[in-house]
Amino acid sequence: MIDKTEPTYRALVEIVAEALEKVQLGFDDYQKECFISRPSEFFCLELNGEAGELANIEKKVWKGKEIPHEQFESECADVLIALMNYCNAKGLNLGQAVSDKLKLIEEKRSTLKQNNEEY
Ligand SMILES: [Mg+2]
Repeated sequence: MIDKTEPTYRALVEIVAEALEKVQLGFDDYQKECFISRPSEFFCLELNGEAGELANIEKKVWKGKEIPHEQFESECADVLIALMNYCNAKGLNLGQAVSDKLKLIEEKRSTLKQNNEEY
């Protein structure tokens, strides 16, 4: 839960680092316990394939077709799972990386705001 007494981004930075680490470790344990080992290249291709499936249903919406909300959730889940597996296969610390990125985004946003510009 985000502590509203802190600036939102600071709380988010801490939560993201901690929560994503747990989630990533959980996926790593599950993958190692139940599936064959695959290289990061496999998961990179899988990630991009799943992102493509998500993009494809957005394209269908763009063209006027109705897509059930659950289908977006399902494709987003596929993307997240593939991303977790990719990060684990590659030995990446996603929680720290996202946390670091949020700090950079906030620094840039804050600087732009001082100049009355939007990020
Ligand atoms: Mg899919």
